[in-house]
Amino acid sequence: MRCLYCHAVIHEEMSWSDLLFKRIEDPFCGICKSGLLEIKKENSCSVCSGKMEGSGTCGDCLIWNEHQMYHDVLHSNRSLYEYNQLLKEMIKRFKYNGDYAVAGCFRKKIIEEVKKLPRQTLLVPVPVSEERLQTRGFNQTEALLVMAGLKFECLLTRKNEEVSQAKKLKHDRHSGENPFKAIQQLNGENILLMDDLYTTGTTIRRAAHILKEAGAGEVRSLTIGR
Ligand SMILES: [Zn+2]
Ligand SMILES: [Zn+2]
Repeated sequence: MRCLYCHAVIHEEMSWSDLLFKRIEDPFCGICKSGLLEIKKENSCSVCSGKMEGSGTCGDCLIWNEHQMYHDVLHSNRSLYEYNQLLKEMIKRFKYNGDYAVAGCFRKKIIEEVKKLPRQTLLVPVPVSEERLQTRGFNQTEALLVMAGLKFECLLTRKNEEVSQAKKLKHDRHSGENPFKAIQQLNGENILLMDDLYTTGTTIRRAAHILKEAGAGEVRSLTIGR
């Protein structure tokens, strides 16, 4: 069997049924696995998964807490790995090179996180722009959920991009136009937003804000990198 990412042969004595099972359990070879740095709950912010000494809420989230529009939109974000060079390459492969199968590398971890959610939480991918969708042919955040075999709902869509991109340049991350809109009203459902990266947290909070306005209950998010 081969590593889902680098295709190196993984040497292990196993039966065929083990192999099938193992493939789901552990898609990476030893080298890829050791190159990825898992974010541990003990050393990360309880709200955004950002690295910090000890536990609690990081300075960045405390600032978000003061924001008049976004202070209570996001229950919590969980990110799986630190955004290092290897993860950057992995994300690039499925996001920009269209290597859909690489999205399957994260299947096991995504399923583990989804199992921890409150019952009947709806999984919602953060939509990519129409323009990017056309060049890549698929939504990479959907690919993560598809490859994990999870059901999801596309409750968000993007407004016309050109306007919001131009405005983004003029405004700081805490203001600017929200690029998302909800496609339907909600009735207190809890939501898990799925995205590839948590960078400043602005995208996730904007998406969460729109879902809250549409009537969502608690909004959490899950990203591969942080
Ligand atoms: Zn590998
Ligand atoms: Zn934080």
